[in-house]
Amino acid sequence: GTANIGVVGLAVMGSNLARNLASREGNTVAVFNRSYEKTETLVTEHPEAGFIPAKTYEEFAASLQKPRTAIIMVKAGRPTDAVIESLMEVFEPGDIIVDGGNAYFPDTIRREKAVRETGINFVGAGISGGEEGALLGPSIMPGGSDESWVTLGPILKSIAAVAEGEPCVTHVGHDGAGHFVKMVHNGIEYADMQLIAEAYDLIRRGTGKSPAEIAEIFAEWNRGELESYLIEITAEVLRQIDAETGKPLVDVIVDQAGAKGTGAWTVQTALSLGVPVSGIAEATFARSLSSHPEQRAAAASLPGPDEAFTVADQDAFIEDVRQALYASKIVAYSQGFDEIRAGAAEYNWQIDLGAVSKIWRAGCIIRAQFLNRIADAYAAEPELPALLTAPYFADALSRGQAAWRRVVIAAAQAGIPAPAFSSSLSYYDGIRADRLPAALVQGQRDFFGAHTYKRIDKEGTFHTLWSGDRSEIEAEDTH
Ligand code: NDP
Repeated sequence: GTANIGVVGLAVMGSNLARNLASREGNTVAVFNRSYEKTETLVTEHPEAGFIPAKTYEEFAASLQKPRTAIIMVKAGRPTDAVIESLMEVFEPGDIIVDGGNAYFPDTIRREKAVRETGINFVGAGISGGEEGALLGPSIMPGGSDESWVTLGPILKSIAAVAEGEPCVTHVGHDGAGHFVKMVHNGIEYADMQLIAEAYDLIRRGTGKSPAEIAEIFAEWNRGELESYLIEITAEVLRQIDAETGKPLVDVIVDQAGAKGTGAWTVQTALSLGVPVSGIAEATFARSLSSHPEQRAAAASLPGPDEAFTVADQDAFIEDVRQALYASKIVAYSQGFDEIRAGAAEYNWQIDLGAVSKIWRAGCIIRAQFLNRIADAYAAEPELPALLTAPYFADALSRGQAAWRRVVIAAAQAGIPAPAFSSSLSYYDGIRADRLPAALVQGQRDFFGAHTYKRIDKEGTFHTLWSGDRSEIEAEDTH
């Protein structure tokens, strides 16, 4: 074989990734697709790439140098399993199969285990950045073995996005670590988008400014600490005028947000790990709420506040919203990184959180200036108990918290939903609280279920005889 890398699955993502690979010095790319038409089209349209097309899995394997390395870019789920099975029939021990699709990380753990038993390496790699990222440079989150990283590392580094001279790829951890981190990336993306949407809604309803005027506000924010791809594209979307009606496009788009499931995975996983990712959860639920038109129609007659919403000082309000957005964003990222740390502990992955923040600086949807601050925080203190306690973020929160409270109060009084802003503020107040009413919850649990409690003043586990004389006894620890 003469190709050093192969791609299986030549739909949008696969063909762009194959072209990206072929454009880099030193790569020769073998390509295969279940139906040959896609292969033929790609090879004909891009003669400059020098692709080596294969009609069968046998031909594909024969065209690859050993150890063979192939990246799968097909539909997640059953199709991915089908392709892995076919590749296992033609590959040999030491070869490397990479799944670059959006797999659910438990599937990746299962596949890695099954493939490893044959001596073939399996790497689940999260690839972010969509079509354009695949072509020009994505952020890549590979898991898998150390052995496979030796061969795969240089190839992935050659195609990844570059941030401040560093390629946006790192060996995240073993087996499913890469897909886990990609999942949390998408969850954070949900939170980021919802926060921006709440900021837009509050400004629009509070000031009466047009979408185009608000686009200018976002463009301005994009020159400061909020600088990010999502803020940038928000300005673009808000500026867009619908050709058919002459109205702002945002006003003719149906207000029901779709989802492909990665936000839900992030929240489900967080629930099982016991990590409160309330920002991501509220963002995911906000999409669900929007997508139930029958319920919304039935509830539309429920009353809101009596008075109309007006803000006295528009510029001051807009600045408050900016600060609320930044503070809430810090909370969302802090929660997301908590989930990665908890996942690493649960599944025995050695994940460098600073390295993760660095590979998100370019190529992916949540790319932002902000990620440099996260990298700095973990560089200064790798065992940081929570991102929001790092000096830079703690300072930003203490500067922004008054504005954040004013915005949440204004939203509540005006009857404007701000689930991500307000839940993030509640999280902030919860995590920094000296005493929480969790003590009362423990009392309730002990009352109805004899679940016991600890005391602040002595060691041991206790139970009150609620249905007896209400004296306290020492109990066995049952949590
Ligand atoms: P699709 O998810 O639409 O998948 C189409 C490809 O899957 C085709 O090559 C198709 O082959 C192949 N396929 C489907 N079923 C089978 C099967 N049973 N056996 C073999 N091949 C099969 O393609 P995309 O390019 O949109 O996405 C590829 C992957 O990348 C997906 O996992 C997706 O979730 C992920 N993705 C990631 C994005 C990102 O931003 N990171 C964005 C979009 C997607 P055929 O032509 O023969 O039908």
